[in-house]
Amino acid sequence: MSYLKIESIQKTYQNDKPAIVDFSLEIPKGQIISLIGESGSGKSTLLRIIAGLESKNSGEVFLGEEKILTPKEKLVPGYDEIQLVFQEYHLYPNSTVEENIGRPLIQYDKAYKKKRIDELLKLLGLDAFSTKLPRQLSGGQQQKVAIGRALSLEPQVILLDEPFSSLDTIQRRELIVELKTIFKQLEVTVIFVTHDLDDALQMTDSLVLMHKGKLLQKGSPESIFEKPKNLYAAKLFSHLNIVSEKPRTYIRPSDIQLFKSVGLAGKVLEKQYLVHYNQLNVRLENGAEWLVEDKKRMFELGEKVCLRWDEKKEISF
Ligand code: ADP
Repeated sequence: MSYLKIESIQKTYQNDKPAIVDFSLEIPKGQIISLIGESGSGKSTLLRIIAGLESKNSGEVFLGEEKILTPKEKLVPGYDEIQLVFQEYHLYPNSTVEENIGRPLIQYDKAYKKKRIDELLKLLGLDAFSTKLPRQLSGGQQQKVAIGRALSLEPQVILLDEPFSSLDTIQRRELIVELKTIFKQLEVTVIFVTHDLDDALQMTDSLVLMHKGKLLQKGSPESIFEKPKNLYAAKLFSHLNIVSEKPRTYIRPSDIQLFKSVGLAGKVLEKQYLVHYNQLNVRLENGAEWLVEDKKRMFELGEKVCLRWDEKKEISF
C-alpha cells in the first residue's frame, strides 16, 4: 500500500524552463528514500510541492487518502503531518534546546507538551543539553534540535532538504546513522534529498535519481550500479573510461586489473595516493587517458602498465 503518492507533477516557474517534468513516485508508509540529483535538478521544488508550500502546474500529491493542497488552495499553507527540514535550521538563538523543540506545540496543554519534549530529548540523545542555548551545541546537535522540532507534531512524513551539508564528514555520517534508527523506530516516511551518493547510501538502499526535473531511475544501489539508465546515472557511482573500439561503451576504474606485461598497454602519467589504492592516470597507446586503481601500489610515474578487464563488466548505452 502506497502512502505518499506523487502523481505526474509538472512545475514551471514563470518564464523559465520546466523545473519538474511529469514526476511520479509512490512511497510506502515508513520507508526512507534518498532523492539524488545535482544542483538545479528540481529536488527542493519537489519537496516544497509535496509539503503543500509551492504551487504546481498540474499533478497531485496524496498522503494516504488526503489530497495535498497548494498555498493558493489553503488558508494556512503546509501541513503538520508533513515537515520540511533544511540545512539552515533557524533555531531561536535565545531559546533553550527544550524551548526550541517545543515551539510548534504552543497550542497544546502544558503536561502533554512537557511529555512530548522529554520523549524527543531522550530519543535524540539531547537530555543533557535541554537547558543549553543553540550556540552552546555542535552543528550536528543543532541539526538534531531542528529535527526534534520537526518531529514534535508527530508528522507522518519528514522531508530532509540537504540538512547535513554544513556538517563535516564525521559528524554527518554519525548523525545519518543515528537518525536512520530514529526514523525507523517512529515509522515515519522520509525523503532525504542530497547530491552526495555516499550520504544517500548511509541513509537507505532505496534511491531515486532526479535529473533536469525528471525521475531518471529508481531502485537499489546495486541495480542502478549494474544497469544505469544513462551516462549520468552511471557517472554518479564512479568515473568511466571510454572503450575506444566500441561505440558508447565504458569501463569503471574499479573493474580494471593492472599487469606488468599482458593487456592493453599504457604509461603512468599521474599517481595519486588515496586511502584504499593509488589512483593512476594512464595514457594508452592510442592517446586516450584512463583512470585506474593500483590496489597494490605497484606502479610508479612513467612506468609501463598493462590493463585487462572482463568484458561482462563493460557498460554500454
Ligand atoms: P535543486 O533543489 O535540485 O537544486 P531547485 O528545485 O532549487 O533544484 O531548482 C530547480 C529549478 O527551478 C532551477 O532551474 C532553479 O533555478 C529554478 N527555481 C527554483 N526556485 C525558483 C524560484 N523561486 N523562482 C524561479 N525559479 C526557481
